[in-house]
Amino acid sequence: MTPPRERGVLHRWGEYLPITPGTPMISLGEGDTPLVRSVALEALCGLDELWFKLESCNPTGSFKDRGMVVAVAKAMEDGAKAVMCASTGNTSASAAAYAARCGLTCFVLVPGGKVAAGKMAQAIAFGGRILEVDGNFDDALNAARSLTAKHPVALVNSVNPNRIAGQKTAAFEICESLGDAPDILAIPVGNAGNITAYWRGFCEWAELGRASRHPRMHGFQAAGAAPIVLGAPVAEPHTVATAIRIGNPASWTGATAARDESGGLIEAVTDDQILEAYELLARREGIFVEPASAASVAGLLKLAREGRARGGRAVAVLTGNGLKDPDTAVARYVPDITRAPATAEGIERALGW
Ligand SMILES: *Cc1c(COP(=O)(O)O)cnc(C)c1O
Repeated sequence: MTPPRERGVLHRWGEYLPITPGTPMISLGEGDTPLVRSVALEALCGLDELWFKLESCNPTGSFKDRGMVVAVAKAMEDGAKAVMCASTGNTSASAAAYAARCGLTCFVLVPGGKVAAGKMAQAIAFGGRILEVDGNFDDALNAARSLTAKHPVALVNSVNPNRIAGQKTAAFEICESLGDAPDILAIPVGNAGNITAYWRGFCEWAELGRASRHPRMHGFQAAGAAPIVLGAPVAEPHTVATAIRIGNPASWTGATAARDESGGLIEAVTDDQILEAYELLARREGIFVEPASAASVAGLLKLAREGRARGGRAVAVLTGNGLKDPDTAVARYVPDITRAPATAEGIERALGW
């Protein structure tokens, strides 16, 4: 009998990644996420086809796992016993999970009081050493860069090229699923590592002759945290979409290169537009994402409303799971809850049947 096929980014995409015979082939089953066709928002977005790449289905609930598995494997190959990251939440959840699995210590630097509840719960559950810093993500990343330059601890933020290498595999999966690259790739932009990684993935796939074209990259920032749109860092970024609450993206030039080389755009969406898309995804598509992920769909809706949609086939990257941030969901909706006795008759009465 053949043994079961091992899953994960290193097993599936290893030949396109910077791994060697000495790289430990770790996995939590990341990657290979579903690509699901829109049933309702496609028409509202003025598209012929809209597909959702459900990166929320990764092991810790966000795309960060795709790059983290490569970064942690390479850190182990280099003999590291500890990893460190600055995080708005999802990087710390992912780093802490892979560190737990691999017996490493994980230090996470998070902006005090600004991390969604589900993400904190994950970092705690996986045994991360959590440092709440008095500052925002950008301050935390600066500190993490200095600390890891000085101490024997591997930095696993997306400034680590192994993170970008792992994350580009999502572009490969999209091309494999659709048979070619889409016309448009819509994606939220925070620290800008992911838009950089997708663009690299699409370019590599075309260079290898496995895709016949490149998508136009459509990046969306939150209006209160839109340094690339404004052309200058934002000192005090604010948005309900905490995963993209970043004022000085580390991969700024990667993002603008992706935009310009692809003939794409990077624009801002307001928190109201983000929450509208967040609600439409849940209520019309049955897909529960965290607010940052809804920025990709909010952006497509905005373009359609402004008469700028040009049809074609688009993929929106849904970067993180709605369970990450239950407080935003509870605050957003008036729940439809009726109290009733635990009997069929009582429930009939409560429903007015
Ligand atoms: C990290 C993250 C982003 C932003 O990705 P960048 O690579 O920082 O641009 C968007 N959405 C979610 C859910 C994230 O965790």
